[in-house]
Amino acid sequence: MFDVIVVGGGPAGSVVSLLLSEKGYKVAMFEEHQTPGFPMQCGGLISRDCLSILKNYIDIDKILLNKIEGAYFFSPSGKYVKLRGKSKAVVIDRKIMDFELFKLASSKVRTFVKTKVSGVLDVGGEYIVKAGNSFKSNYIVGADGPSSIVAKSLGFDRPDFLSAVQIECCFDSLDENFVELYFGYSDCMFAYSIPCGDGFSRIGVISRSNAIFWLKKLLKEHPHVSNRVKVKSFCELNCGAIPSKLVNFVKGNAVLIGDSAGMVKPYTGGGIYYLLVAAKELEKNFPNLDQFKKSYLRTLKLEYSFGRKIAKLYEVLGEEDYDYLISVANKIDSEKLHMDRPSSLVKVIPNILKLIKNRSLSLKLIKCLL
Ligand SMILES: Cc1cc2nc3c(=O)[nH]c(=O)nc-3n(C[C@H](O)[C@H](O)[C@H](O)COP(=O)(O)OP(=O)(O)OC[C@H]3O[C@@H](n4cnc5c(N)ncnc54)[C@H](O)[C@@H]3O)c2cc1C
Repeated sequence: MFDVIVVGGGPAGSVVSLLLSEKGYKVAMFEEHQTPGFPMQCGGLISRDCLSILKNYIDIDKILLNKIEGAYFFSPSGKYVKLRGKSKAVVIDRKIMDFELFKLASSKVRTFVKTKVSGVLDVGGEYIVKAGNSFKSNYIVGADGPSSIVAKSLGFDRPDFLSAVQIECCFDSLDENFVELYFGYSDCMFAYSIPCGDGFSRIGVISRSNAIFWLKKLLKEHPHVSNRVKVKSFCELNCGAIPSKLVNFVKGNAVLIGDSAGMVKPYTGGGIYYLLVAAKELEKNFPNLDQFKKSYLRTLKLEYSFGRKIAKLYEVLGEEDYDYLISVANKIDSEKLHMDRPSSLVKVIPNILKLIKNRSLSLKLIKCLL
């Protein structure tokens, strides 16, 4: 009998297992693969604040690939602006990050690898986890990603999922220390290129329906991408699901964390920072799961709310709107914007609204953001 069974040995599962075992609980972690992190489903872009949290667990020199100062924003027609952000960011090697976190957690908790959990039963007061044999625990943590078996077995609400596809290839970046964001090349969000060093970039698209279609369009047709990408040299292709929203993540003594709960930034799909915050909040409040839920939502409430507002913009902005926004963007104080804190936008909205002389665009911004 375990106090806690954690299903999934990705970053969410590893960090939660580690923190709860350090608090004195008898924890078991189940991972369906030999090690997590393969295939990689990540651009590896995180803020430096997020990197500082990771520093508490692993040697970050092992995972650091590149430093990022800001982003180029491209309108669909090819106009662009280069902006520096407040947060600054880094590109990490996600496979090594997952491996290092998993290795650390495995040194502290009973770990079952190559062990797929096929179902979880709630038998009133305890859980039976089926993974070949049956295992019992008082608490269960579903850190098993988008297609969470814990969530399905225990009847949690499921979010819709967006699809993401990404290649890593030789790419002539405009600046090796700036990511590039391409608007209008997705049916719900944006496309991106993330320089990861040595002339390589991760180029990807997040889409509601057909990410491959949008990626091909970006690579073939985008006025600033098609001539810089050397697709023949691409060395990795990754596909994955991104949850579209946060769902209820506590039910009895069961809790979901990370992608299984939809803990991602609603306007980018980035999940690493939000799951690290959740793991720490869970540690602080465990075993009071309702308190954990309240405390996590309190900590990131504003960010989810603003993140959803920004995501609404993708649905209403047209080609000319992006052109216009890009033409005025270098007049806003972008150094106030933080990639993990969409609420930082509040500081620049008044200035943006003052700059915009186009009534229809102003109305769209007011409707979505205020
Ligand atoms: C293309 C793409 C690019 C991304 N880029 C970024 C980015 O640049 N920055 C960022 O912050 N986020 C990014 N994300 C999101 C980020 O990758 C996720 O938020 C993060 O991986 C979530 O971690 P997790 O531990 O919750 O889930 P996962 O990483 O999915 O880990 C779940 C683990 O559970 C295991 N598992 C699943 N089912 C079972 C089972 N039944 N039994 C046992 N084990 C099981 C899996 O093998 C896996 O190891 C990206 C996502 C995609 C798809």
